[in-house]
Amino acid sequence: MTEIDTQDNGEIQEGTDYDVVVVGAGFSGLYMLHRLRDELGLSVKVVEKADDVGGTWYWNRYPGARCDSESHIYCYSFNDEILEEWEWSERYPEQPEVLEYLQFVADELDLRKDIDFETEVTSAAFDEEAGTWTVSTDDGDAVTSQYFVTAVGCLSEPYVPDFEALDDFEGEMYHTGKWPHDPVDFDDKRVAVIGTGATGIQVIPEVAKEDVERLTVFQRTPNYAVPARHRPLTDEEWESIQANYDEILEKAHNSGFGMPFETGYETAADLTMEEVEEALEPRWQEGGFRFLLAFEDLLINEETNEKVSEYLRNKIRETVDDPDLAEKLAPEDHYYGTKRPPLHTDYYKTYNEDHVSLVDVTEDPIERFTPEGIQTADDHYEFDMIILATGFDAMTGTLLQMDIRGRDGLTLDEKWNDGPQTYLGLALYGFPNMFTITGPQSPSVLSNMPVAIEHHVEWVSDTIEYLVDNDVKLIEATRAAERAWTTHNREVAEQTLYTTADSWYMNENIPDKPTVFTPYPGGIDLYHNTILEVAEKGYEGFELTEAVTDLGREGDKPQLSVMEGD
Ligand code: FAD
Ligand code: NAP
Repeated sequence: MTEIDTQDNGEIQEGTDYDVVVVGAGFSGLYMLHRLRDELGLSVKVVEKADDVGGTWYWNRYPGARCDSESHIYCYSFNDEILEEWEWSERYPEQPEVLEYLQFVADELDLRKDIDFETEVTSAAFDEEAGTWTVSTDDGDAVTSQYFVTAVGCLSEPYVPDFEALDDFEGEMYHTGKWPHDPVDFDDKRVAVIGTGATGIQVIPEVAKEDVERLTVFQRTPNYAVPARHRPLTDEEWESIQANYDEILEKAHNSGFGMPFETGYETAADLTMEEVEEALEPRWQEGGFRFLLAFEDLLINEETNEKVSEYLRNKIRETVDDPDLAEKLAPEDHYYGTKRPPLHTDYYKTYNEDHVSLVDVTEDPIERFTPEGIQTADDHYEFDMIILATGFDAMTGTLLQMDIRGRDGLTLDEKWNDGPQTYLGLALYGFPNMFTITGPQSPSVLSNMPVAIEHHVEWVSDTIEYLVDNDVKLIEATRAAERAWTTHNREVAEQTLYTTADSWYMNENIPDKPTVFTPYPGGIDLYHNTILEVAEKGYEGFELTEAVTDLGREGDKPQLSVMEGD
């Protein structure tokens, strides 16, 4: 931000540079800007560290980067013109197409003029005297606002493991989450990929198809991947989607996972393996996330899950020619779906290629990087290129990077020392007038995310509208409400199989992070009703403080409603 464009529309409070500062210009930040600026008439500044909109789809440009959500539901639903004008070309859009979509939305809604690109928020501090936020950026500037909204994404802080002598490697090294914008040349190169999560599973078959000399995959934990059955959308399919779009999107918004697909059977617990195969086969052939919904109790019933997991292991055994390799690729350490279930195109088949090999690092651990490649316990591997598909400091990583400070200078880092504590995944005790779009303890990553994002953005803008209309100066989650939500999140998670896996959902991918289930697992439909009900009840669980110009200098502030305790 080279110049502070002070606006004084008197909507909320005179004296701040903006009514709202939003961080991030992905799916969340773009819609947040539109709602606040175009529907509420507020002055809004979006700060984005990339040089364009797109978020995830700006950064993750690795070969094979493609959406696992089907295109017709991986989009905004709030604007009929955008829905009519934009036509998806494929069942699952590739990264460039999603990026193009978000650029199209930004242009249609004229959003760019209120976004400061190539600017990183380095700190955000709540000023108790003024009742405002001061948001500082890496160019040395700072702006003030009444509200502070984070739209920084759940998977936007790439994670590079602390491999010994990482910097010694003299070849090319790329993290998939920060892939170069210029084309990467693979010709005749010896390439390593570390990581077999959703990203590794997409990038490995694509790199194998390049003219590489050899590809070596370093796997710590195998994953269960279901075929995507990717294909272009036909005109007939697109016409049918258009004709039924309202119904499809309504169904997605009222479902547990933000997807309009039917669940199949209640349980597999009382079915024979043959019956389970019969039930799963059509969904396997259809491909995609419909497979996940075959049995309603998949994520709460070990018996059901074990049968589905065995079905998937058998599919891997059928596909991979070398039986020993097939066993290495077949997960035994976690239940299907307890780690984010990836989709794949030709992933397992790729291991039948002569130039592709696997190093199981549980048997032969990576000891250190060397100038020429990677030294494991048993071998030294020489590479020209190493691709780190090692994931993200998910859910809280990006928020914690920002040095956010609430009342009494409390840092988010201190507050979340034992894991995230929030109210509804949207707000925090001690951090008034701050909202977290798809924050931890909201459904976010357990759903088709544009649906979760729209629910949050609409709730936040409706809330700010309510506060403005009712002359409320400050909104803050109560400590009791936050504790209750954090306990509820944990208790719901403990009823599922999610907590049995060492996943990034559980913070387990990052050393020293507290082991705790980070998203809200109760379903997006139930969750959405909960946040709407909280609002209907006059913001139950929040403390609302009436507008005063000299806040912080008065004694007792009038309380519009104090819901629970402290
Ligand atoms: P993001 O898209 O992550 O955007 C956050 C933005 O905030 C980024 O542009 C970032 O640069 C910016 N930012 C962060 N910190 C700062 C700071 N301090 N200062 C300034 N700017 C900052 N979800 C699905 O539902 N279906 C899928 O198929 C799917 N596929 C995915 C594939 C990949 C490879 C990845 C990584 C994620 C995928 N997701 C998918 C999840 C995806 O992140 C969400 O669907 C969605 O794009 C999130 O949008 P967002 O705006 O909330 O966050
Ligand atoms: P990830 O799921 O966290 O996978 C990271 C991989 O790196 C794992 O295989 C992990 O092994 C491995 N790894 C990490 N540290 C390692 C170490 N020190 N040594 C060896 N291996 C190590 O990350 P991701 O694949 O980038 O996916 C993250 C999320 O992004 C997904 O779950 C999904 O939500 C989203 N995503 C979506 C899509 C899509 O929808 N198309 C595509 C890509 C990503 P362990 O499993 O043993 O930890």
